[in-house]
Amino acid sequence: MEEKKKHIAIIGSTGSIGTQALDVIARFPDRFVVEVLTANGNARLLIAQAKTFKPNVVVICDESKYKEVEEALWPEGIKVYTGIKSLEEVVRMEPIDLVLTAVVGFAGLRSTVSAIDAGKDIALANKETLVVAGEIITELASQRNVKLLPVDSEHSAIFQCLAGEWYNPVEKIYLTASGGPFRGRTRQELASVTREEALKHPNWSMGAKITIDSASMMNKGLEVIEARWLFGLKARQIDIVIHPQSIIHSIVQFADSSMKAQMGLPDMRVPIQYALGFPWRLPADYPRLDFADFSQLTFEKPDFETFENLKHAYRALEKGGNLACVMNAANEVAVEAFLKGNIRFLDMAELIGETMEAIPFLKQPSIPDYEASDAQAREYARQWLNK
Ligand code: NAD
Ligand code: MG
Repeated sequence: MEEKKKHIAIIGSTGSIGTQALDVIARFPDRFVVEVLTANGNARLLIAQAKTFKPNVVVICDESKYKEVEEALWPEGIKVYTGIKSLEEVVRMEPIDLVLTAVVGFAGLRSTVSAIDAGKDIALANKETLVVAGEIITELASQRNVKLLPVDSEHSAIFQCLAGEWYNPVEKIYLTASGGPFRGRTRQELASVTREEALKHPNWSMGAKITIDSASMMNKGLEVIEARWLFGLKARQIDIVIHPQSIIHSIVQFADSSMKAQMGLPDMRVPIQYALGFPWRLPADYPRLDFADFSQLTFEKPDFETFENLKHAYRALEKGGNLACVMNAANEVAVEAFLKGNIRFLDMAELIGETMEAIPFLKQPSIPDYEASDAQAREYARQWLNK
């Protein structure tokens, strides 16, 4: 395969996805070139990454860390910018072919839209941006003829199952979910769970926000909405199945009743590599599944009564407009408060539900409308916390 090298920007290179992406990239120096690395505040790791991968540009969003990064990288001939606004500009740089969006939360929205507008393919990890503004993002991507390549393991699984099926309509998809650390618990038992328990995911090691989202099932709720936009499906075509072993990463069902699933050990480098290398499967020595270690793969129904966030997400999906944006903003505030020890586990879903009731509905929001709804929802949620 003689291929031109792919020039890559990683937005959020110091996080769980960002560091694993660099592990992938380091394996294929004749395939990938790093053009841009960015971090919010982890200056030390950003500097170390830049010294290894020699990007053209880095962005440290936290302005108080600018001097430290600038002084370390200036001698290396690497340009250093600061401020969240710079993300919107650096993703447009001429040599970039593909932008990996690995920031967490709503903060990734503007840079993703800007990269698509500039015609860059997107390897999409930052699911919150699609949840908030899926309609605008997918329309812009199709106008600019830009690929949205999923990084989320479930969506990568669906995408892999759809290879070669482009003309066959999907009847239904099943997003698998491990169920998180609290699978099988009752509401009563969840009332007193701690932050430490919630941070212990059984199968995946991830950033703190998505780990809490997995415990509260909001992660799966966000993924249902993410799937709606990536694959153009209706709410009733998307089901969740609890699969505690996390070996089957998701399933597509077709018109003839046939189902295709994608499976393997849980290792985010695999979907990251598929998105970066698409359409090629590059050879890699990641651990292989041994069936002897998994004598049983099991499946259960999700518990919508205990994990109310699932109901919130389907309601947001069905209603559309700014409701998913409001839900996402309230969730970001709720998770932060839970991580700080300011609210209990079950308060999160309650706060989200009440914020969704309170914020005025907008049917066809623009990006500035989404930003306004996000701000309103955060403000409402903060006041709720102070009550
Ligand atoms: P993380 O917290 O480990 O890393 C986040 C990265 O974004 C860091 O580099 C951080 O510096 C940067 N960042 C955070 N806030 C920022 C802000 N306000 N402005 C600019 N930069 C900011 O998160 P993660 O676990 O790597 O997750 C990243 C995204 O990928 C999330 O949307 C998550 O849902 C999604 N995702 C993650 C995994 C996983 O295994 N970690 C799996 C599937 C999807
Ligand atoms: Mg996932």
